[in-house]
Amino acid sequence: MRAAPARHPPPWTADYPADVSTTPASERAAAAISTGGAAELPKAAAEPASGWAQSTVVVTAGRPPREQGAPVNPPVVLSSTYVSAGVPGPGDRVYARYGTETWEPLEEALAALEGAARPGLIFASGMAAVAAVMSLVPHGGRIVMPRHTYQVALQHARELTRRSAITVDLVDVADTDAVLAALSAGPRPDLLWLESPTNPMLEVADLAALATAGRAAGAIVAVDNTFATPLGQRPLALGAHVVVHSVTKYLAGHSDVVLGAVLVDDANLADQLSAYRGTHGAIAGPWEAWLALRGLRTLALRVHRSATTAQQLAERLSSHADVLEVRYPGLPGDPGHDRAASQMTGFGSVIALRPRGGLDAAEALASAVRLWVPATSLGGVESSLERRRRFSTESPTVPEDLVRLSVGIEDLEDLWSDLDQALRAVQR
Ligand code: PLP
Repeated sequence: MRAAPARHPPPWTADYPADVSTTPASERAAAAISTGGAAELPKAAAEPASGWAQSTVVVTAGRPPREQGAPVNPPVVLSSTYVSAGVPGPGDRVYARYGTETWEPLEEALAALEGAARPGLIFASGMAAVAAVMSLVPHGGRIVMPRHTYQVALQHARELTRRSAITVDLVDVADTDAVLAALSAGPRPDLLWLESPTNPMLEVADLAALATAGRAAGAIVAVDNTFATPLGQRPLALGAHVVVHSVTKYLAGHSDVVLGAVLVDDANLADQLSAYRGTHGAIAGPWEAWLALRGLRTLALRVHRSATTAQQLAERLSSHADVLEVRYPGLPGDPGHDRAASQMTGFGSVIALRPRGGLDAAEALASAVRLWVPATSLGGVESSLERRRRFSTESPTVPEDLVRLSVGIEDLEDLWSDLDQALRAVQR
């Protein structure tokens, strides 16, 4: 049997390089001790209360404690079960469906970004998070929600009308008076579901006014903050009880992971959602949680870059001869602009576009682009587009020729020239 190769001393030890030093090892060790040995480390300060900007928090939150030799990134722990004898206490780790140390850094980071008082809860997907929040509505209860809510969230609510005798009232969320009227009409609402800007129509809701009214009406107020991201708006500070994310989109940001999250301040809501997650089992895998946290580290850069590009593209598209209509809250003429400017810190990176030539032209855009990826979803580093009504489940009030653009981080001029040539090509 061959002997195991000798381990080389690492370059930071007193024994390195062992064969060239003329100083005896004992003196070198003493020198290392007399110069202080391990340096005193500053205390870890990646706490939300530190007052750092969100662009700093995306980098610092959820790091392991700053100790000599500790990893900078949290490890991925792959274990479905934990050593556990006797009756477990409330905080004990027992089984990975109830919680793992690989979820926790992401849950802490998301809470820090949304300004939540307690760690977030991550779920297997954005839809699993949506379903968890909707599970708070009792049998026979009532939900008020935007008619242009993300279509699958709406589908889920409709399913609840069949299964749990829940009433769903759809509203134009940009029309504050209409939402107030819906809240006060009929039985007490259990849930006011808000999405702003909406997917794909980009309508902007007055979140503070609606959260106040929803609370006064006795409803849980939940905001799907996927489009804005916590860097664009913080619904808990505007009065919401619950924030929901499809982490799949901007937060993870690389179109390589499906994940969701819920953020709440209230302990009772957190307990209910955590119990739901543990029993329904729509949990995140550790790799997905880790990948999402890695993606989150560049959120500020990505969001800033893609929103700046989206603004430029929206402006150019507004005066393009082959474009009928552009919706983007950053355009001064957009119906949602003033509200977005007052409650958001950025206008996001989704543009809704209607090309001249109707449904056929809109559909043809997907095969005419070379750089933009014809694909569903949004919030990735790559720019993508799709005609939303290609899905039979999309709301019939979304125009048939509406194309949703998700602007990524590529070069502005490359994106523009590809879109411009595609818009021209589909007219021929
Ligand atoms: N909320 C919004 C606004 C979305 O756009 C989506 C997905 O497109 C979801 C929720 C659902 O998220 P997921 O696809 O991660 O289940």
